[in-house]
Amino acid sequence: SVLVVGSVNADVTVRAARIPAPGETVLGEEARVSPGGKGANQAVAAALAGSSVTLCGAVGRDTFRAPALSGLTRAGVNLAHLHELAAPTGLALITVAASGENAITVASGANARVTPAYLPTDLSGFTHLLLQNELPSEVNREAARHAHAAGLTVLYNAAPARDPDPDLLAHTHHLIVNEHELAAFASGGGEALETQARALLTRGPRAVTVTLGARGSLTVTADAVDRLPAFPVTPVDTTGAGDTFCGVLTAWLAQGHPLPTALHAAGVAAALACTRPGAQDAMPDRAEIAAALAR
Ligand code: ADP
Repeated sequence: SVLVVGSVNADVTVRAARIPAPGETVLGEEARVSPGGKGANQAVAAALAGSSVTLCGAVGRDTFRAPALSGLTRAGVNLAHLHELAAPTGLALITVAASGENAITVASGANARVTPAYLPTDLSGFTHLLLQNELPSEVNREAARHAHAAGLTVLYNAAPARDPDPDLLAHTHHLIVNEHELAAFASGGGEALETQARALLTRGPRAVTVTLGARGSLTVTADAVDRLPAFPVTPVDTTGAGDTFCGVLTAWLAQGHPLPTALHAAGVAAALACTRPGAQDAMPDRAEIAAALAR
């Protein structure tokens, strides 16, 4: 079973003609409140894909708690290690312009108050740990160290990009990044993606996956390179594609599938998530992934 240690947010999205300039006010349509946060999104994707999933993180006791948790509850994610703090629930304020561009401000709230003391001490029920970059780095470092020592497989989606933590990387089995996040690890020099990804194999991970949007993904291990084209879809909203990829990859590995099979399923699921608006609302379930794989 899968343990996700990560962020939980409510996303407040407003569509407006354009993104306001500094000091400016722009009138938009009505706000939409939906569940988000990379940790919650990935937990939901993994649970919908058929895994037993537990989320460790924190929310507040305010009005945004319920919308932040709605997707997790619906997907059946175990919230026994979700802490309720006297701090505001994490909030992402998203403006989407008519051009399709967006501007996002994240108020981390309770997510920033998570400490290593909140991590489950008994990891014996879990086989896989999945991390992202929306909790304090000492939480990630401690979770990875403990999980690695307990024999779990540690997957780390280094998103959003931040300064690499060598200790976290050393305890990661599988690193997942997009091209932009890969650049945060690279030493510069403009080398080919495969060379940059391969260089990271010397720093801890035994697999590195680079997601490439509509160009699919590239995964390197010590003895193989797996280039997967994207599953062809007509995208309407790519929000949550990366989170779907990470959640489903982890779920399929936890269900015992070999890496190439799990990567294929993750790519198909992420593409399906692009065919509907929203993040958690757009994620496919196990039956839809299986049907697409059979096509
Ligand atoms: P992020 O959203 O984190 O930047 P990517 O844009 O690389 O991540 O997308 C993650 C994965 O989602 C890709 O590896 C691919 O499998 C899938 N994906 C994203 N955009 C598309 C698309 N337009 N068509 C098909 N699959 C897509």
